[in-house]
Amino acid sequence: MGAKDMTVYLNGGFVSQEAAVVSVYDHGLLYGDGIFEGIRIYSGKIFRLEEHLRRFFDSAKAILLQVPLPPDKLAAALQEGVKRYGKDEGYIRLVATRGPGDLGLDPDKCSAPTLFFIIDTISLYPEKFYREGIPVVTASSRRLPADGLDPRVKTLNYLNNIMAKVEAKQAGCIEAVMLNQRGEVAECTADNIFIVRDGVLATPAPHCGILQGITRQTVLELAIEEGISARETVLTRFDLYTADECFMTGSGAEIVPVARIDGRIIGSGNPGPVTERLHHAFKRLVGGQSLAKVR
Ligand code: PMP
Repeated sequence: MGAKDMTVYLNGGFVSQEAAVVSVYDHGLLYGDGIFEGIRIYSGKIFRLEEHLRRFFDSAKAILLQVPLPPDKLAAALQEGVKRYGKDEGYIRLVATRGPGDLGLDPDKCSAPTLFFIIDTISLYPEKFYREGIPVVTASSRRLPADGLDPRVKTLNYLNNIMAKVEAKQAGCIEAVMLNQRGEVAECTADNIFIVRDGVLATPAPHCGILQGITRQTVLELAIEEGISARETVLTRFDLYTADECFMTGSGAEIVPVARIDGRIIGSGNPGPVTERLHHAFKRLVGGQSLAKVR
């Protein structure tokens, strides 16, 4: 359960934690028919709000979901939520579902979409992981192909990613690398992946079947500012194993160094110099806050 001082907006207004409930007939729950965003608050400001809203509304459009508020009104509600929340650091989970319907799939039988957001603390990983790096494995669960469900849509269907996460945990690891149907590297279960080889940064291109992460985009921009060459390309497991450095990126996790992949030590086994440089640049960008946690 979240902290008592969480802030929740549900279908048009702010509600207490007790009133923050949705129907058991909600198709977001029954079928995963919905979309979401995970957004950070740094120094009292919503990080990359415009980009998150753009992705949210693109996801909605792709699945023919009418978000009950237009982007400017939703942005205003989020800003109001941040004010009510009152803390400088936080995490926003924004969700829109098809809403309550009957027990059939038909989205047209849903009365009205459900829209809510929660503002709360988040702490995905202990600080140690950021200092030492994490071990990951390749999962046998593949990322869904774009002709099944485009991974650029941030839907509420995360079960294949969750199964990959379970595989990672069963292997004594923290995270899993997910491949696409061609066996190329796509991303981790809720984070994008980068490698560094000979000083060049590389990350799977959007056509490899990834969610186009906003932290990923931020890191690509920081690389330009830092004079680090970067490319979006096709990566295989061989590229991961032989990389000098590897890290994952995501709004919740931020930048997490990867120390070991499928039992192979990456580089020195410690966070590498390019990872550290980007990590520091990211920290500066978000106002010098700790990357590891929000409390
Ligand atoms: N890939 C997946 C599958 C994700 O769910 C996420 C979001 N946690 C990311 C990548 C990272 O995206 P962002 O940097 O926008 O949080």
